[in-house]
Amino acid sequence: MTQNILVVGGAGYVGSHVSKALAGQGYLPVVFDDLSAGHEWAVQWGPLEVGRLADRDTLRMAMEKHRPAAVMHFAGLITVGESVADPSKYYRHNVIDTLVLLDVMREAGIKKIVFSSSAAVYGAPETTPIPENHPLCPTNPYGETKLMVERILHDYAVAYDIQSVSLRYFNAAGADPDIEIGEAHDPETHLIPLVLEAALGTREEIKIFGTDYPTHDGSCIRDYVHVSDLADAHVAALKYLANKEASIAGVFNLGNGAGFSVKEVIATAQQVTGYDISVSVADRRAGDPAILVADSTKARAELGWTPRFESLDQQVLHAWNWLKKSP
Ligand code: UDP
Repeated sequence: MTQNILVVGGAGYVGSHVSKALAGQGYLPVVFDDLSAGHEWAVQWGPLEVGRLADRDTLRMAMEKHRPAAVMHFAGLITVGESVADPSKYYRHNVIDTLVLLDVMREAGIKKIVFSSSAAVYGAPETTPIPENHPLCPTNPYGETKLMVERILHDYAVAYDIQSVSLRYFNAAGADPDIEIGEAHDPETHLIPLVLEAALGTREEIKIFGTDYPTHDGSCIRDYVHVSDLADAHVAALKYLANKEASIAGVFNLGNGAGFSVKEVIATAQQVTGYDISVSVADRRAGDPAILVADSTKARAELGWTPRFESLDQQVLHAWNWLKKSP
């Protein structure tokens, strides 16, 4: 029998790619989303229930109607700078609303959840690549909210037998290779789509935030991981939880283990698109560590996760194909 999976925030960038991957593996993704940042066009593989996470009754009705075997939770605010300027908004949406979700799950007897966490839980890295047992010391409210939810999930596993996997994403990149869905943030703050907009001419230039970092070319290094690979990891996490009897709150890094500098991303985009890209140098962005690269050995070993699109060229090409077609 087809299992329903409640994909909270499934109309967004990562959630919609996960919905597609779930459908490809025989699950029915039921998207619960308030469409504040997500898009109705991104919900293509199952029903859409429009509702806010804070609205306990709507959430309860969605769970009673669809009886999901598990929940995946992507609904959250994601802009680091905004979280510094307005922490109240971030703690409310990312932490308090998640408590509502967990409590409604408990009432409905749903015991499994896969949570979108972030490399932001680590803060400034002490070692590179970063393993999961690296100290957890977020440098902004966004990262704090992700860490708080991870800790809540740990306590809920002990007390209420809620089984969870938290996936700590490094830099999500690319788009569905079939170009059915892709990234569409408003405002866009992420490097690759901004660089590609500069290539397309819908943006004048790309600003490099800092060229005086202690890296080989002075610009920041990040670990870009294809969004469809992230999606596969979520399905793997679901299967991992399905096989677990004991209570568990697992955490896994998701990255490629290879870092690319901002300048290398721009050079790749020039080569993939064939367009010149205007570049200027700006000040460092507050809170940006010089290098963020994942050690994802654990996800590969324990979840059986094998990324398919590790090359930056492919990630940029898929994002480019999507940008040219996007709504
Ligand atoms: N970045 C940049 N110019 C931009 C946007 C981002 O130089 O217009 C840099 C940013 O400082 C970071 C990297 O690109 O080093 C990736 O940033 P992004 O916002 O995409 O992801 P983050 O690493 O913050 O999660």
